[in-house]
Amino acid sequence: MSTAPTRLSLLSAGSDPGEQYSPVPPGYTPGTTKYIVITGSVMSGLGKGIFSSGLARLLEDCGLRTNLIKMDGYFNEDAGTLSPYRHGEAFVLEDGTECDMDVGTYERFVNKSFSSLNIFTNGRLTQKVHELERGGRFAGSDVQFYPHVTGEVIRFVRESALAYKADVTLVEIGGTVGDEENRTYISAMGDLAYREGERNVYFINLVWIIEAAHLREQKSKAAQHGTALLMQMGIKPHMLVCRAEHELQPGVQHKLADRLRIPRANVIDLHNLETIYLVPQHLRRQKVDRIVLDYFGQGRRAAGVEDPAWAQYVKDFLAPKDEIRIGLAGTYMGPRDMYASIHNAFEHAGIRVRTRVRVVDVPSDRIEDGPAGEIGERAAAQLRGLDGILVPSDFGRRGLEGGIACIRHARAHGLPFLGICHGFQAAIIEFARSALGLAQAHTTEIAPDTPDPVIRLLLEQYEAEGISGGMRLGKRRVELLPGSLAAQIYGGTEAFERFRHRYEFNPAYRERFAEKGMVFSGWIPDHPVMQIAELPGHPFFLGVQFHPEFTSRPVNPSPVFVGFVKACIEHAARR
Ligand code: GLN
Repeated sequence: MSTAPTRLSLLSAGSDPGEQYSPVPPGYTPGTTKYIVITGSVMSGLGKGIFSSGLARLLEDCGLRTNLIKMDGYFNEDAGTLSPYRHGEAFVLEDGTECDMDVGTYERFVNKSFSSLNIFTNGRLTQKVHELERGGRFAGSDVQFYPHVTGEVIRFVRESALAYKADVTLVEIGGTVGDEENRTYISAMGDLAYREGERNVYFINLVWIIEAAHLREQKSKAAQHGTALLMQMGIKPHMLVCRAEHELQPGVQHKLADRLRIPRANVIDLHNLETIYLVPQHLRRQKVDRIVLDYFGQGRRAAGVEDPAWAQYVKDFLAPKDEIRIGLAGTYMGPRDMYASIHNAFEHAGIRVRTRVRVVDVPSDRIEDGPAGEIGERAAAQLRGLDGILVPSDFGRRGLEGGIACIRHARAHGLPFLGICHGFQAAIIEFARSALGLAQAHTTEIAPDTPDPVIRLLLEQYEAEGISGGMRLGKRRVELLPGSLAAQIYGGTEAFERFRHRYEFNPAYRERFAEKGMVFSGWIPDHPVMQIAELPGHPFFLGVQFHPEFTSRPVNPSPVFVGFVKACIEHAARR
C-alpha cells in the first residue's frame, strides 16, 4: 500500500537546498549557541565520552550552560536491545530513553538529567528520513545523502541546543573516524559548521598515542594518519587531544603540531589519570577552556573556578581512609562497562564516607543452588571475606539461581544485601521458597507455569499506564513507608528513581510475605504493586525494583548506595 505524497512543490530556483530541507527551527538563531564536535581516531574506546564530559564540566565552571549529544552509528533505534557484552550497559534516562552509557557519564559530570534529545542513532535517523519522505516533506525529489539525510542530523542538534537553551552543545560522534556508520554524522557536522557561520563550530579529534614497549617511545604515526582521514572528509580539527598510557612526550606534541599544522598549544595531553574526575582539572591546566572560548570570541569567560563540591570529591577520592570489599553477583562479568553505573555509584557512595569500595566479581551463573532453606556451599565460599553483596539487574534464566543462593546466604548470615531490579525479584523468590515454604515459587519470566508466580507480568497495569512494549521505563515517584529503612535512607517519604523492567511483585502474595516479616516500604502512587522490600532485624537487607545507580552523581551520590556502603563498613568493623 502506498502512502506517497500528493502535494508536490518545486524548489524555487537558486534557493539553498540545505536550508530548503533543513530549515532553521523557529526561535533558533545560528551563532547564538556554539558547538564543539568530538571525534576519535586510531581506535574505539578512547574515552571520548569522558573527555566530552570533562570539557563540559570545565565550561560549566566558566559559567556556560552546556548540553551534550551522543551520535551513535548503529541502526538500532535505541540501546535497549543491545547486548551489554558488546556495547556496555544500557543507560536509562528520566524520560525512559534507553541509551549509550556515555550519556550516563555526561549526567554525572555536569550533574544534569538528559533526555531523548541527547542521543541520536542511525536507526532514528533513517526512520525519521523515511517518515518525512512518506509525509511529502521532500517535495517529490529523490532523497539523497546531502542535503536530506545530513539535514536531519543538523535539525536534531539544533533542536537539542534550543531545547536546553545551551550556550555550548558538545556533539560526540561515536566510533572511529573512517567507520562507514559515522560518515553521515561527520559530513553533517561539516555542513553544520558552514551553516552556523564562522567561529561557531569547533572540532576536536581524540587520538591514541601508541607506546610500543620494545621501543620505549611514544609513536604518533597512527594518530597522524587517523587525523588525516578526518581532513580528507573536509574537516580540519582545531584541537588534538592525545590519549596515552603515560604523559605525552614533548617531541610527540611538536611532531603532531608540525605535521598536522595545528598550533602546539592545541595539542593536548590526556594520559591515563588516577580517576576520570581529574580530567577537568587536567584540561584546565592546559588552558583548554581558554583556547576553545577564545575561538568563540568569549575568551574572557575562561579560567573559571572549579566547583567546590567537585574539587572536594576529587580530593577525597585520592585520600580514602578505609577500604571495603563488596561482591557483585551478576552474569555480565569481564569488562567494567557492563555494570558501569553500579561501579560509579559505589565510587560516589564510598567517597561520601571516605572509603574505597573494591567491587569483587561473583559470577552468579557459576554458583550452584542449595535446596530451599539450606545454604549453598559454593555461594558461601564465594562470599567469604566480603562485607556485602549486590545482586544487580539481569534478564532471563542464567544467573538467577546463583543470585538466589547468594541472597539466601546474606539473609541467613546477616551480610548486608542490596538487590536491584532482577536482584529485588530474586530476593522475593528466595523469601517465598525459604520463608514461605513455596518450593516452586518463581518468576513467570523464566517459569511461566509456576504454581507460585511471586514475580509476574502485570499487563493490565502497563496498559493502564499507556506504556508500549510492556516495559516500565524512566522516572517515577516512589512513596516510602514512614519509619522504614527506605525512608531512613532517603531522609523522607518520597524518592524519584528510574525503572527498567517488565515483571514485578505479585500483590496476591503480599499478606503472606508480611506475615513472615518482609516489609514492603515503597510503591508508585496509584499502582498497587510494591517496589521496595526490606527485612527488619537484618543489618541491611534491601531490594529495590528500580535502578538507583542511574541517578547517582559524584557530588550527589545515591542514598541507597550510601546506606548500603555504610552498612558494609559496619559489617567490616564487626568482622
Ligand atoms: N528481567 C526483569 C524484568 O524484566 C528485571 C529487569 C532488570 O533487571 N532490568 O522485570
